[in-house]
Amino acid sequence: TPTVRLEGVGKTYQTGTVAVEALKEVSLDVYAGDYLAIMGPSGSGKSTLMNILGCLDRPTAGRYLLDGQDVATLDDRQLARIRNSKLGFVFQNFQLLPRVDALNNVELPMIYAGINAKERQRRAESALTRVGLVERMGHKPNELSGGQKQRVAIARALVNQPLLLLADEPTGNLDSKTSIEIMEIFQALNNEGTTIIMITHEPDIAAYARTVVTCRDGRITLQRGHSE
Ligand code: ADP
Ligand code: ADP
Repeated sequence: TPTVRLEGVGKTYQTGTVAVEALKEVSLDVYAGDYLAIMGPSGSGKSTLMNILGCLDRPTAGRYLLDGQDVATLDDRQLARIRNSKLGFVFQNFQLLPRVDALNNVELPMIYAGINAKERQRRAESALTRVGLVERMGHKPNELSGGQKQRVAIARALVNQPLLLLADEPTGNLDSKTSIEIMEIFQALNNEGTTIIMITHEPDIAAYARTVVTCRDGRITLQRGHSE
């Protein structure tokens, strides 16, 4: 079973009398262990695609199967549970809780998942160790650099052992040296089996992925390396 299967996915936004077809007939299989970069100009449909993959939005045509399950059959509560348990998210602006330390930020998805405090702490420390930040676990976001914040966000994305890590411009707010460090973490995670889909504008960043997909006018084109 592919981790992700998109079958002729379309997305039309209806605003008043104007319909914008943001995605057209997008078909794509992503298997466990794949690492995709999605590139494309502004307005090409990348965010729309990411919102569908992340179960924040539903296609208006076609089907999205996540781990073999048709997302259209799920209600909002089930989708919320899937987002927390099967998906990990990394954002351009980190999206950490500002008032709590790194350890508590990383524990958050496990609180939603109902995991007990002792196990939460154990797993959060383990995930922070993997991203090389365990010695900063008591620091709040404003006491961390951009790269360190993104490492916390990556640790948070991993703690529920997601099927898929979704990253939206993960290096968009980082300098080149820090971006490379974050890409090296992604590469190590992918080498250990983590499946990754990442949006990026930067060819140097896309070059880290095994597969590059270009989005243009709502259609995707494979650039290189896909397993099909
Ligand atoms: P990208 O992420 O590549 O910049 P988007 O997915 O944001 O592309 O946008 C694709 C197209 O869909 C654009 O024409 C955009 O204006 C339109 N669009 C995106 N979101 C909405 C929305 N919520 N309502 C109406 N149109 C939208
Ligand atoms: P577990 O409780 O499953 O044994 P660990 O304590 O080993 O988890 O690791 C904490 C978190 O770090 C896990 O929830 C998992 O998401 C992630 N993790 C640790 N090791 C790996 C690995 N080799 N591959 C993928 N994810 C890992």
